[in-house]
Amino acid sequence: MANKIPRVPVREQDPKVRATNFEEVCYGYNLEEASLEATRCLGCKKPRCVEACPVSVKIPDFIHCIVEGDVAAAARVIAQDSLLPSVCGRVCPQETQCEGACILGVKGEPVAIGKLERFVGDWGREQGVALAEAAPHNGHKVAVVGSGPAGLACAADLAKIGYGVTVFEVLHRAGGVLQYGIPEFRLPKERVVGPEIENVRRLGVKIETDVVVGRTVTVDQLMDEEGFEAVFIGSGAGLPRFMGIPGENLNGVVSANEFLTRTNLMHAYDRQYDTPIYTGGRVVVVGGGNVAMDAVRTAKRLGAEASIVYRRSETELPARREEVHHAKEEGIDFRMLTNPAEILGDERGWVKGIRCVRMELGEPDASGRRSPVEIPGSEFEIPCDVVIMALGTSPNPLIAATTPGLETNRRGCVEATDEGATTREGVFAGGDAVTGAATVILAMGAGRRAAAAIDAYIRSKN
Ligand SMILES: Cc1cc2nc3c(=O)[nH]c(=O)nc-3n(C[C@H](O)[C@H](O)[C@H](O)COP(=O)(O)OP(=O)(O)OC[C@H]3O[C@@H](n4cnc5c(N)ncnc54)[C@H](O)[C@@H]3O)c2cc1C
Ligand code: SF4
Repeated sequence: MANKIPRVPVREQDPKVRATNFEEVCYGYNLEEASLEATRCLGCKKPRCVEACPVSVKIPDFIHCIVEGDVAAAARVIAQDSLLPSVCGRVCPQETQCEGACILGVKGEPVAIGKLERFVGDWGREQGVALAEAAPHNGHKVAVVGSGPAGLACAADLAKIGYGVTVFEVLHRAGGVLQYGIPEFRLPKERVVGPEIENVRRLGVKIETDVVVGRTVTVDQLMDEEGFEAVFIGSGAGLPRFMGIPGENLNGVVSANEFLTRTNLMHAYDRQYDTPIYTGGRVVVVGGGNVAMDAVRTAKRLGAEASIVYRRSETELPARREEVHHAKEEGIDFRMLTNPAEILGDERGWVKGIRCVRMELGEPDASGRRSPVEIPGSEFEIPCDVVIMALGTSPNPLIAATTPGLETNRRGCVEATDEGATTREGVFAGGDAVTGAATVILAMGAGRRAAAAIDAYIRSKN
């Protein structure tokens, strides 16, 4: 299936300019561009794009509203399934989900569903379109742990059907990775994340920040003393992994999570804030996922010479193609088939370089990807001042350790069914806390399924 109208390109900030600022890379569509792109959708009777969306947004329906010139209606269609359209339109890996399944992609370019969703989300917010309403309170209370996409999606669905929902968040701002991890230049906090969280609050959801569940209050106390009939755990996977190589304790070695939290949540890039951040001028980021791309592009914007070190080849990079493309445009140095063996320090205990080994690709491993094999005698050094480890994360063990009967697997993830039921009655879980580090939309899908299961559970008890 082909379409005579080519996919409408999206305007972006000039790479040379944007590599020196934290303003958004992509400008998104305006009304004229969105209206033209929307006409490309065939309005399929059995839309493959919807099947491929983890929260089943009614994609052809909202695109049809754009074609009709009724963007407010488009915003309300999306809001039936997602209260984070401006977030998802910016960060979802559409190429492997809705757009990856779009029928137009078989012989040409798929509809730019993500950019259309972003346009509708932004337009709805700017025009103050009322999105969703909550049913009258049904007298039942549910607690949600964590205010990331999983927790917010669960809270929103429960509030819509009348539950009194309180979200407990350990940090001082709500949003999880949307707030502390994904950089401002991909996902603006004040303009996008904050207002979309407000839409959840508007449904009557209470968000209590600075509460460490497992310390300030336990899951047992929430259920036995505070009257919550069910608890949803959406506490994410914020515990960084390290390589276990010599030199990782040197000054100047940090996790990507810490580096990004300092810049995003604590505004280290903004001179009006006192948050310290050190780049030393030369930064090496170890890893090849979205987190690595965010860290290296942030380091570049802070004025450093910034490189990626990754042990496989470019084909295996797990980051989104778009992020790799943007990073290259901004002048990031990619050192592929390179594996760190030791971080080198000076006499004061600060990083001065990283000793690496060149790799080649061998046979495919269990993941289906060709595994990297060291080339003997190929060691070399890269001089640098900071090494950022972006090797993946796992769930923090605190909640499982303080909640009797809540089982975890060997990766530290909470054991839960697809509907979110855990091994502890009345306790549900979803998102990265269950799957390990994944995506925003998968976390939202898990939060929504758990909300339906919590509703069924509470109904069955009453
Ligand atoms: C730098 C970075 C870039 C990423 N880029 C993308 C991207 O482009 N696209 C994409 O789809 N995905 C991306 N991801 C992944 C995505 O952000 C996550 O998969 C998603 O946020 C998971 O949602 P969640 O709600 O399960 O957890 P989180 O977003 O991690 O939220 C969990 C929340 O729980 C809170 N919490 C933890 N423990 C407690 C406790 N004991 N008490 C109270 N609160 C607690 C945390 O502070 C946090 O706010 C990225 C991740 C990172 C780190
Ligand atoms: S699959 Fe593509 S063409 Fe068909 S409804 Fe979805 S977006 Fe439109």
